[in-house]
Amino acid sequence: MQLPQQLLDSLTGIAGFDKEAFIQVHESGEQVTSVRVNAAKSVIPDKSGQGNNRQLAIDQFLTPQSVKIPWSSNGYYLPERPVFIFDPLIHAGAYYVQEASSMFLEQALVQTTDVSQPLRVLDLCAAPGGKSTLLQSLISADSLLVSNEVIKSRAAILEENSIKWGGANVIVTNADPTTFERLENFFDVIVIDAPCSGSGLFRREREAIGEWSEQNVELCYQRQQRILAAVMPALKEGGVLIYSTCSYSKEEDEHIGDWLMDSFPVDSLPLTIDATWGIVETQSDGRRAYGYRFFPYKVKGEGFFISCFRKQEGGRGTIKPPKKSLLQKASKNETAIIQPWLQPGSPMQLWKMKEEILAFPQQLEKELLTIVDNVYVRRAGIAIGKIAGSDLVPDHALALSTIINPAIVAVTLKKEDALQYLRREEVSLSIGHRGWTLVQYEQYNVGWIKVLPNRINNYYPQNWRILKRAVDSANENS
Ligand code: SAM
Repeated sequence: MQLPQQLLDSLTGIAGFDKEAFIQVHESGEQVTSVRVNAAKSVIPDKSGQGNNRQLAIDQFLTPQSVKIPWSSNGYYLPERPVFIFDPLIHAGAYYVQEASSMFLEQALVQTTDVSQPLRVLDLCAAPGGKSTLLQSLISADSLLVSNEVIKSRAAILEENSIKWGGANVIVTNADPTTFERLENFFDVIVIDAPCSGSGLFRREREAIGEWSEQNVELCYQRQQRILAAVMPALKEGGVLIYSTCSYSKEEDEHIGDWLMDSFPVDSLPLTIDATWGIVETQSDGRRAYGYRFFPYKVKGEGFFISCFRKQEGGRGTIKPPKKSLLQKASKNETAIIQPWLQPGSPMQLWKMKEEILAFPQQLEKELLTIVDNVYVRRAGIAIGKIAGSDLVPDHALALSTIINPAIVAVTLKKEDALQYLRREEVSLSIGHRGWTLVQYEQYNVGWIKVLPNRINNYYPQNWRILKRAVDSANENS
């Protein structure tokens, strides 16, 4: 399919744009595959839960030909695209398939923000979760990440990917950007990976070419303004806004920078880039706002644009946590039942929401209550499970979390058996004990089984199970 002439014309004159190279890279059919490893899961504690960490080989699924992505701590290019859905490690949250340019968010965050401090971070347009899982890996354990997605069905995928990544300091919400107006002066960092006209993904998603139009670029520009205007009050004074798109169009990139600086008290923040990375620094025509554009013929990655701003001043509103909440602290008895399931020494507060118990970092109590009071929450922290009598019925999220007790009894499956488990089929194993048992693959937790006297029940979540049988899926989630 031909690239739209109006797009090519509109890009002429943009710093770094080379029409011939642009057309050629789209015609080449070259595909770049990259993954980001979940560092929090590549080290597992010993059975006592402390010290003497055992390093798992992160290269279990990386080949010697995998090359490090230079702007990312844990990102790698793969020499070819495997059929990811048939790798149990992806279902265990050991890594995420993410486009390489997007991983540059790491530089935008660490160059503008002290990530060693406790932060409140909002990822406003978060599904399916690529940027959010990256943010989870970058912030400290005593920081909060609110991952929000406005579209309900996409929020479900975001929740799934967030659970797989395993962090306890995350709240997944499903709300319109205007909802966050209530949280005045609350966040230290807001990431807006905006819905856009998508020209940056044309090489990978050729069908998107036919959907591109100048009118859509204009509509996206207006929507981006509305989204930004809705959340700017929620950014603290001195807080950082990171704005990105996968569009090459100036309207959605530099013009948004100009509009932001005209409309709000913000400074544009330059980033340091290595010349060998091939990223093009731009400045907007009006307010000279810095931006960073990724062209696929200069960078090994897809089209992308990112820019950062610091809020000079803002409201000084403080939000009082509610007196009454949907959440109650778990009782002493419930806490005693659950404690053995958690990694010793993890500073978690247990909460009850209806019958479900969840764990959330103790020091983020105020933040948790505030978000639950103001925004529709799909999941907060780690779902631990339900208490039945004097036992816990553990939740799948606990198995995949980084707070589970490593001493919990586990069974290791070979690849074919692990895939059978992930299809939610019967698994036949000879296990000497009874009760709840973790299923592991290559030392990564995959889920729960319950061993009964005469059978084994598979507790893999019904709606996450692998449906595909043959190797026919080149286009799984990215
Ligand atoms: N950040 C995601 C990641 O890295 O995986 C990708 C986000 S995608 C570029 C933009 C997201 O914005 C989509 O999930 C889309 O559903 C959401 N969106 C669409 N319209 C929106 C709106 N009016 N306000 C907020 N988000 C919107």
